[in-house]
Amino acid sequence: MRHFAIVGSGPAGFYTAEALEKAYGDQARVDILDRYPVPYGLIRFGVAPDHQSLKAVSKRYDKVADSAGVDFIGNVSVGRDVSVAELLELYDAVILAVGSPHSRKLGIPGEALGGVIGSADFVGWYNGHPDYADLDPPLTGTHAAVIGNGNVALDCARILSKSRREFEGSDIVGHALDALDNSAIRTVTILGRRGPHQIAMTPKELGELGHLEEAQPVVDLNDFPPREADDALEPGQRKSVTILRDFADIRANKRKTMIFDFFAKPLRIEGDGKAETIVVERTELDEKGAARGTGETYEVPTSLIISAIGYSSAPIEGVPYDERGGKFLNEGGRIADRLYAVGWARRGPSGTIGTNRPDGYEVADLVAAAMPSGTAGDRAGAAGLKRLLESRGVMPTDYDDWRKIEENEAANARPGSPREKFVRHQQWLQTLGR
Ligand SMILES: Cc1cc2nc3c(=O)[nH]c(=O)nc-3n(C[C@H](O)[C@H](O)[C@H](O)COP(=O)(O)OP(=O)(O)OC[C@H]3O[C@@H](n4cnc5c(N)ncnc54)[C@H](O)[C@@H]3O)c2cc1C
Repeated sequence: MRHFAIVGSGPAGFYTAEALEKAYGDQARVDILDRYPVPYGLIRFGVAPDHQSLKAVSKRYDKVADSAGVDFIGNVSVGRDVSVAELLELYDAVILAVGSPHSRKLGIPGEALGGVIGSADFVGWYNGHPDYADLDPPLTGTHAAVIGNGNVALDCARILSKSRREFEGSDIVGHALDALDNSAIRTVTILGRRGPHQIAMTPKELGELGHLEEAQPVVDLNDFPPREADDALEPGQRKSVTILRDFADIRANKRKTMIFDFFAKPLRIEGDGKAETIVVERTELDEKGAARGTGETYEVPTSLIISAIGYSSAPIEGVPYDERGGKFLNEGGRIADRLYAVGWARRGPSGTIGTNRPDGYEVADLVAAAMPSGTAGDRAGAAGLKRLLESRGVMPTDYDDWRKIEENEAANARPGSPREKFVRHQQWLQTLGR
């Protein structure tokens, strides 16, 4: 019997478990560990609460968790409660699927001022992540800025701009819904260092902005290259750029605006103890398509700044780390003998939920090639891990525990909402009578 530990129960963790299950059948036991008693990683804590259809992918993960050879061991933080070296003693292979939980830093003066928030924190706040339950983002000013030109930037701008009614059916947590409902923000400026052709925004997410109840997107057609130049773009990107261009035709007079400010590089954030202004440099594209400063600067007034410029993994003791890439050093998913990485921990923070599936299957193939099904292992697996955790006073949870939490969250839901998430670690444990 082989014993495998997957650390992290986001998409990459579940797809890898599914692949290992298929490869080994009853010849292996696969344990999915997570630092929380609740599974799904960014499906729960990242994907926007008003995009419930995407979150439904978790049903597929439930099926994996229900398979005979797979177990969920929650409430165990690897690196704190148990080390990777200890897991390697207990398991034939350890696969890190820990994602990239931290916001990348802007690296500009003023970043530490109040009101400057990384997207991981802001997204975690409205999605009920326990680390950000007390974030309390400043929503009393009229101007906010979101730095970045990807879908996460769009999520943040949209969440800041929607009306309370538009959150019906979502699972945005109550504290965020109430705060946003009372928000004074009327203008959200989305700053991108390059132009419309360089955006990393997908058509569906962009298209939505054209149909919001109280907010309208604003673009400046002078930022766009001639329309014929769009023909050179790949079809998805062309569609996104067309949607952006068409925003120029919107003639509404809604009370909120989302301004796309392209060729805008933040230089510094200024304010007296808290953010008041971003100083921005106008850029242009150089020969290689990179942003080059023009020397022209201007100020964008704003009391809330959300930087949505990417994520990085949290280093774990004993695991080689790629500082620049914000992920674990690995070759095709292999970090070292019997130690692997999948998903964002392997590739860095890019790609959709689905991108993690081939990733997980590829790494499962590597594992199976190194230790073919049918060959024996003599590691202690979950039994040994549980003994170790008990000796440290750590109380792991299982999937039945998650189902109890899920039932309680569903029972607490606002009318029309699928759940009201518990936002404190303690609340999860109390639900389980711990
Ligand atoms: C704001 C945001 C919105 C997104 N929206 C979409 C979208 O609309 N559509 C789409 O296709 N993709 C979306 N994505 C991308 C998608 O969420 C990722 O591709 C995917 O979640 C990455 O999967 P992962 O398993 O590598 O990491 P994660 O989903 O981050 O999972 C990592 C897991 O590891 C656990 N963990 C971390 N450290 C430890 C530790 N030390 N010990 C134990 N457990 C640990 C975490 O608790 C978590 O459960 C979005 C991403 C973000 C950030």
